[in-house]
Order: sequence, then C-alpha cells, then structure tokens
Amino acid sequence: MSFTPSDTVLAMRARLERFMDEHIYPVERAYYEFVEDQNNLWKYPPFFEDLKSKAKEAGIWNWFLPREYEPWSPGLSNLEFAPLMEVMAKVFWAQEVFNCSAPDRGNMEVLAKYGTPAQQEQWLKPLLNGEIRSAYAMTEPQVASSDATNMELAIVRDGDHYVLNGRKWWITGVLSERCQVMLVMGRSNPEAERHSQHSTILVPIDTPGFRIVRPLKAFGSYHSPGGEGELVFEDVRVPRENLILGEGRGFEIAQGRLGPGRFQYAMMFVGMAQRCLDLMCQRVGDRVAFGEPLSKKTSIQHEIARSRCDIEQCRLLVLAAADKMDREGPKGARDFISMVKIVAPQMCQTVADRATQAFGGKGVSQDTPIQHVFLTSRFCRIADGPDEVHMSQLGRWTQRDAKK
Ligand SMILES: Cc1cc2nc3c(=O)[nH]c(=O)nc-3n(C[C@H](O)[C@H](O)[C@H](O)COP(=O)(O)OP(=O)(O)OC[C@H]3O[C@@H](n4cnc5c(N)ncnc54)[C@H](O)[C@@H]3O)c2cc1C
Repeated sequence: MSFTPSDTVLAMRARLERFMDEHIYPVERAYYEFVEDQNNLWKYPPFFEDLKSKAKEAGIWNWFLPREYEPWSPGLSNLEFAPLMEVMAKVFWAQEVFNCSAPDRGNMEVLAKYGTPAQQEQWLKPLLNGEIRSAYAMTEPQVASSDATNMELAIVRDGDHYVLNGRKWWITGVLSERCQVMLVMGRSNPEAERHSQHSTILVPIDTPGFRIVRPLKAFGSYHSPGGEGELVFEDVRVPRENLILGEGRGFEIAQGRLGPGRFQYAMMFVGMAQRCLDLMCQRVGDRVAFGEPLSKKTSIQHEIARSRCDIEQCRLLVLAAADKMDREGPKGARDFISMVKIVAPQMCQTVADRATQAFGGKGVSQDTPIQHVFLTSRFCRIADGPDEVHMSQLGRWTQRDAKK
C-alpha cells in the first residue's frame, strides 16, 4: 500500500502552501486579535472576504467534497484530499477561507447526497459559493446526546407543514452573522422502530418561533465568529419540502454525515499537531537555559521524537481510513473511521501539551496558536460523539470479526 501523493496532488499542495505563506500566516495573529475582541462578537475580520475571493480565484475551493458528488465536487478522492486538508488545518480558521470548514462541510455533503433539486438550488449552491453558512442541530440539553436516538425535539406534520418544538444546545456556527440555515434533527415518528423515529429538516434561521437563548462558552471562549448556541424552537413551521430524504431517515443522515467528515476532522488534527511540533522545534533551538539551548536537553529531544512518532502513526492511520473509504465507502471503512476519531484528537492534545511545556509561559498565552490547538483537541474528544461511544462500537466490531 503506497500513500505517495500523485503529481497532481503534489502540485495542488505546493499551490496551497504558497497561498498559506503569502496570505494566511501573515494575518494569523490579526485574525485572532479581531475575533477575540468582545466588541467584534460574531463578526469576521475585514480582510476575511478578500482572502476567500483570493482562494476562489486561485481555485483552492471546496476541495473537501469527494468526487462521487460531481458535478458539485471538484473531483478529488478522499485519499487525495487528505494531505491537502493537513496543510489547511495548520491554521485552524484557514479551512473556512477555502470553504472546507465544519459544520458546513458535512451539511454540504448531506445536501449534495440527499437534497432535492429545489433544496440544492436554495441552500447547497450558496453554501458551495461561500455566500452563507449553516449549522447542524442535533444535541439537546435534557438528554444524553451521545446516543442520537434520544433526541426529543418534536417534528409534527400539520397539512403542508411540519411544526417543530424543542430545545437544542452546543450548535456550532449558529451565532455567526452569516448563518442562514440549520439542519435540525428531531423526533417525527415516535411509534417507529428506534432508529427510524427521527427526521432531519431544513430550518431557515429567520423562521418565526426560533430563537437563540444564549451563546455558550467552551473553556471560557465564545468561539466567535461561529460560536456555539443554545436554541429554542416554539411552534416553528416549515414547509414539507424542507424535509431531507424522508420521514424517519434522520438517524441515517446523522451517521452518513459523519463518515468523510470524521476522517477530514482527523486529518485536521494531524495538521494542527504538526504545526505545534514545527513551532516547538523552532522555539527550543532559539532558547538558552542553564548554559545550552533547550534543544540539547535530552527530555526535550524525547518529547520531540515522541511527538513525531505520534503524528506519523496517526497520519498513516488517517490515510488508510481515507483509502478504505474510497474503496469500500463509509460503511466498509467504519472501523477505520472510528479508529481515527478515537486516536486523532487525543494525539493532538498530547502533542499540543508537550509544545505548551516546551514554550513555557508563552505556550499558554495568546502569542502562539498552541493553546487554541490544545483546547480544541480536548473538546473534540466530546463533540461529534465522545471517545467512549466510538471505542464501544469498535470493540464490538473487533470482537465480532475475531469470531469469524
Ligand atoms: C465545542 C462543541 C461543539 C459542538 N458542536 C455541535 C454541533 O454543531 N451540533 C450538535 O448537534 N452538537 C454539537 N456538540 C455536542 C456534542 O456532539 C455532544 O456534547 C456529544 O455528542 C455528547 O453528548 P452530551 O454532551 O449530551 O454527553 P452525554 O451523552 O451526556 O455523555 C456524557 C459522557 O458520558 C460518557 N459516555 C457516553 N456514552 C458512553 C458509552 N457508550 N460508554 C461509556 N461512556 C459513555 C462519555 O464520557 C461522555 O462524554 C458540540 C459539543 C461541543 C463541546
């Protein structure tokens, strides 16, 4: 098995790296200074649209959408996209500059896969053009949401409409001034079998009866401009045509949405961890303590070596997951998808922790992206399904396969 990228992918990666050097790294800190200023809540820095236009002009746009979604897709396989995702993720917010960021990635995939032509026209096209943003609303405060079949928000048919009542929280991106639509999962068929009780429906953000109760802070940060919100739906009426795929298919959509999404997510952590390691190597070469550069200390060398091993192991696992997904689809690759979901955020958290230590006080400050990487990888061990859920599934599949 070889994971050497093709000449085409190598050329794309070189173009992307050039773009990062010329346009992203020079404003990396300016982005954080703007969005962390409480006066700018839910707003983007003034230079952001210009960066997106430049990325579009350079043809670095929507590369995440796998080739089976042509004509919407630019035509890359999962394996081809993986090394490109790694480069984009070196600056967390840059993924959105290339229209490759969550939660829109997964939402665009759902609409490309299951959307009606009218839904695609109304929502997929502007999302693919980067004109609007979207949210995926599944989690609810009153139930254990690691089990998607627990969701209680009621979706009730009333003539040509569905009426929604319930509460959601931790919904990423919903506070952004650009968020126009949500994919809402709720219970429409309570009498049906457990996995067929839920549906997913499109809800425009300005629908009467919908309101954002409050923004949530994750580890003290509002994550502006996207944010995570707590939401209330009170007699929210949306037309029947807004239903995606059909009644009772919400669980299936939730599962499908997270297939390619999870491997892309995992590759993001490889990129973020690699960035921390690169920064750590630069820092310890420059810094002198007790008569020699930190880079000469055995303990530092070991931390660097361990980090390199951890990143490379994870990178190869993610590439194997992408390859399996290309060959066998999300269902065939589900064991690898669980593996990367379990391994990648923890790996990234560990590498970021080592980089924090090597940087000393600067490592916990806003002067490097390391604290952001550390906290993001920590909460991503809960978001998108906690580690334990994936471990239980993987454990069951592994035992079942061993019995064959
Ligand atoms: C920053 C952030 C962004 C998020 N973005 C979104 C979003 O955009 N849309 C959305 O719908 N949701 C989002 N979420 C919510 C996230 O998906 C849920 O928090 C997650 O699925 C867990 O659900 P819960 O919080 O209800 O935890 P619970 O289900 O109450 O679980 C609590 C803990 O129980 C343990 N546990 C659960 N199941 C098992 C098991 N099978 N075996 C052993 N232990 C187990 C785990 O340790 C778990 O962390 C986000 C969360 C965060 C923190």
